[in-house]
Amino acid sequence: MNEYKCPVCGNVTYSSSPLIKVKCQNCGCEYNVNGGNAPQQGMGNNNGYQNNTGGDVFSTGPSGKSRGVAALLAILLGALGIHYFYLGKNTAGIICLILTLLSCGIAATLLSIMGLVQGILMFTMSEQEFENRYVYTNSTFPF
Ligand SMILES: [Zn+2]
Repeated sequence: MNEYKCPVCGNVTYSSSPLIKVKCQNCGCEYNVNGGNAPQQGMGNNNGYQNNTGGDVFSTGPSGKSRGVAALLAILLGALGIHYFYLGKNTAGIICLILTLLSCGIAATLLSIMGLVQGILMFTMSEQEFENRYVYTNSTFPF
C-alpha cells in the first residue's frame, strides 16, 4: 500500500499502485507525487491551492472559482446577488435579485452591507476555506 498525504488538508489517500497524481478525497485538490515520496510543492503543482492567504487572491483554485473575483462582485454588486451567480449558487442569487427588486431597493441596503462583509471575509480567508464555504457547500444560501 502506498500512502499519499494531502499537502492542503493532511488527509491520507491509500493506493495499491504507485500514483503520479493523487486526488484528495477530503478537500478535492489534486497534487503530484513522485513514487510515493512527499508531495512536491511549487512548480508543476498548478492544481493545488495557494499555500497561504497572502498569495494571489485572483488565482482560481481547484473549483475554478476565483476568491478575488467573488469578493469584488460581493462588495460591488452584492445587492443583486451577482457573486452568488458567479459561485454557481443561482438560487441565492435569484433570492437577492428578487428581494432587491420587490422592495424597491430597500433590501438592497441590507444586501449591500451583507455583500461587503462577505467580500471582506472572502479576501481574508484561505482558498480552501473559501471553496468549502461558498463553492462546495450544499447550502443554497451560503453566507
Ligand atoms: Zn486534501
